Amino acid sequence: MHDHDADDNEHATDHGPERPLEEDVEVLCPHCGEAVVIALDVSGGTHQDFAQDCEVCCRPWRVQVHYVGGSPEVTVETA
Ligand SMILES: [Zn+2]
Repeated sequence: MHDHDADDNEHATDHGPERPLEEDVEVLCPHCGEAVVIALDVSGGTHQDFAQDCEVCCRPWRVQVHYVGGSPEVTVETA
């Protein structure tokens, strides 16, 4: 009996395995200056704008993400 998922049709190119749904990036907190790693939702669109609290000082950020050529450019401002 075959146990085959129909939606498992990844195209195996020379780019390696499947892309992750999240991508970790390191940003600098505009409040305390610490480097903090945040997870980006890759499927959330090429322009993202969301609020997040700093893991170090717990003060709010406004995070803006622009994907340029598949790479995220992340800007963090004080909210
Ligand atoms: Zn901070």
